[in-house]
Amino acid sequence: MPEGDTVWNTARVIERALVGDVLTGSDFRVPQLATTDLTGWTVAESASRGKHLLLRLTRAERAMTLHSHLRMDGAWRAFGPGERWSGRPAHLIRVVLRTKRSVAVGYHLHELALIPTAEEGAMLDHLGPDLLGADWDPDEAVRRITAKPTATIAEALLDQRNLAGVGNLYKAETLFLRGLWPWTPVADVPDLPGTVKLAQKLVASNRGRWSQTTTGSLRRGETSYVYGRRAMPCRRCATAIQKADQDERVTYWCPRCQPKPELPPRNPEESARPARE
Ligand SMILES: [Zn+2]
Repeated sequence: MPEGDTVWNTARVIERALVGDVLTGSDFRVPQLATTDLTGWTVAESASRGKHLLLRLTRAERAMTLHSHLRMDGAWRAFGPGERWSGRPAHLIRVVLRTKRSVAVGYHLHELALIPTAEEGAMLDHLGPDLLGADWDPDEAVRRITAKPTATIAEALLDQRNLAGVGNLYKAETLFLRGLWPWTPVADVPDLPGTVKLAQKLVASNRGRWSQTTTGSLRRGETSYVYGRRAMPCRRCATAIQKADQDERVTYWCPRCQPKPELPPRNPEESARPARE
């Protein structure tokens, strides 16, 4: 699942393959860039911001950025010259970038666009603080989440305008580890900074490797507490993990470790009555 860590890793793969070199050829297989030729451009930088990939290119005084987004299924792979392109079927190729020493192939990319680098800011302006960015700002993320107190905490963590880089896996796992029912309104989350801090920690801990784990184990079938574990026993309490739709995504949770918060008292007089002592 491409979440912040996968996108960060992908930026590093492209960096190693292309950065510092001049492109000797480009082949775009999307209509909007079909006639674009990047031959002669130097690859200056490969960066990620949340789930967005930014390949910065320069030529003389000009600076352009090739933007791409992996969404659920996109990927970039790098190969040596003459090496067989393995992994994905050719019809999924959206772009091929060549240098003297390597070839970078983008599969099933979304939002592929070439923009002046000066316009990057405007394009990504809506994003909240990047979990894996040098400028990660947890206070700002908490501030943005708090601004919409009626949103569910699951929705708030996935909203890239609040914080950029959490996907469905890290959302579900963060909520389990914090004992939060996924439909808890933001206003009722006891320690929001702690929740944000944990989400960042989980994503950051998987930087630099392709397998994602939140349990500390990389063994098959042991890498998550609740995500992808419908009807399987909770690792803490053995209750069957549940799965349900939530905001066009799916959510996994343990009904015992993440109980629905108790409803306020039904009788308004009861809660209004002043304490005796
Ligand atoms: Zn449990």
